[in-house]
Amino acid sequence: MTAPLLQVEDLVVEYGRGRHGFRALHGVSLEIASGECLGLVGESGSGKSTLGKAVLGLAPVASGAIRFDGEEITHARGARRRALAADVQVVFQDPYGSLDPAMTIGDILAEPLTAAGVGTREARGRVAEMLDRVRLPLTAAERYPSEFSGGQRQRIAIARALVRRPRLIVCDEPVSALDLTTQATIIDLFIELQRDTGVSYLFVSHDLGVVRRICHRVAVMYRGEIVETGDGEQVTRAPAHPYSERLRLASPVADPALQRQRRQDWLAIREVPGVTAPVR
Ligand code: ADP
Ligand code: MG
Repeated sequence: MTAPLLQVEDLVVEYGRGRHGFRALHGVSLEIASGECLGLVGESGSGKSTLGKAVLGLAPVASGAIRFDGEEITHARGARRRALAADVQVVFQDPYGSLDPAMTIGDILAEPLTAAGVGTREARGRVAEMLDRVRLPLTAAERYPSEFSGGQRQRIAIARALVRRPRLIVCDEPVSALDLTTQATIIDLFIELQRDTGVSYLFVSHDLGVVRRICHRVAVMYRGEIVETGDGEQVTRAPAHPYSERLRLASPVADPALQRQRRQDWLAIREVPGVTAPVR
């Protein structure tokens, strides 16, 4: 059996120390195979982004291990961490905040390449290839982020994540800020890119409907722990854990009557012993 591409083992993340410390992850373990999409779902504050940040080396890991392609990267810093950027990339939720408004799209996409020592000519060719992959016209290279819609900006962010041909992309709520129609086209793009390049995704979302469409497997996070992992269809349609069921009910549906019923069922599950809403 080949080793998983990403392996997270018993990961503990603590923000701050001592009395003021907060344990955001309580021993999380998961694996992602090459070419696989693992969904990570859970309510706001459950620790999804923290896990994504830990993989990117941006969270304070107290114990446990993260291995990429068999190599431990938990505490990789400096040159090793910069080298990892070729293999592990990220797409964030906010298509407005994540692109430098003063740079052209061409420069935004070329920058990760030129920073890694790729020549300008080759970089320009690769930028054209990436624009084509995300279905933006070549003329987009000369324009600025403000000239694009939210969905188009997310295409640009995806192109930037792909430009160094990474093997894993951490996608942190990448469609949550988009309207439903745009969400659907961006999800299709993620699926197509995975099929064409074999890239793996750690796909963070609070929306089971989104995750069902794109993910092979789903892990459900609750208060810093993974409470259920399984096949995407099974976890999203017939969850075993009451908390996963609560998430299922929280996922919006178009029919208003059904939506009202779901809301009531969702509230009822708050009362299940041991399954309380995160305190806010
Ligand atoms: P999610 O992405 O599921 O909404 P997060 O990983 O962002 O959850 O946050 C998990 C918990 O960790 C939350 O309670 C949040 O307040 C806390 N947290 C996140 N980042 C920090 C930080 N930099 N310092 C202190 N607490 C943090
Ligand atoms: Mg988050």
